[in-house]
Amino acid sequence: MDKNIVVAIDGYSSCGKSTLAKALAKKLHFIYIDSGAMYRAVTLYFLRNNIDLTNHDQIAQALKNIHLNFHSRDYQTHILLNDEEVSDEIRLMPVTENVSSIAALHEVRVEMVKQQQRMGRSKNIIMDGRDIGTVVFPNAQVKLFMTADPKIRAERRYKEVVIKEPHISLEEVFESLAHRDYQDTTRAESPLTRAEDAIILDNTDLTPDEQLAFAISKVEPFLK
Ligand code: C5P
Repeated sequence: MDKNIVVAIDGYSSCGKSTLAKALAKKLHFIYIDSGAMYRAVTLYFLRNNIDLTNHDQIAQALKNIHLNFHSRDYQTHILLNDEEVSDEIRLMPVTENVSSIAALHEVRVEMVKQQQRMGRSKNIIMDGRDIGTVVFPNAQVKLFMTADPKIRAERRYKEVVIKEPHISLEEVFESLAHRDYQDTTRAESPLTRAEDAIILDNTDLTPDEQLAFAISKVEPFLK
């Protein structure tokens, strides 16, 4: 039976949070939930429907019309927005450029946090995001706060982005990351910040296997 262990992974954009979260979930047979994908899917809906970010009634109505579902295959995130698979589209630049403004809206955060807390009830989960250890699961047994050199992060992200969007340059990716970090750390509501009891994991010089071993060593005591 699940012990309801929660591993919260927060950190800057493109620090490899999801890579670590997926590997850890696979190893420990936990459920992986990508909270950023939820904000991205909401952003896609807002963009498609030209939602005015200053109009609270429009925002409230949009949130009522949005139904998000995850289905998991090989620990990859598959997210459905009103039954449409949008997993690829939410990673493209139009969503990436707008997600932090939409994720800063009070109504959006209240709704997403409610859904995330529901998903974590009575299961062993790993959730990554920006406010998981501070707001969504302040009582998580293990909290990791990930960081890495901004240049390394931009290079890693560029390699992923350029496959689908070849016109984008490394500089643009660097600027976009810096801008998103700025918006995420300075917003009024639930800004990205390290929970006091979160363990810092700087993976600038770590291989994926090394960071996985580090994370496992932090979760293992709770499995006994
Ligand atoms: O993790 P990812 O980069 O996909 O997240 C996209 C954006 O969603 C972040 O830049 C942030 O603005 C927002 N987000 C958030 N809170 C979370 C997860 C993501 O505000 N828990």
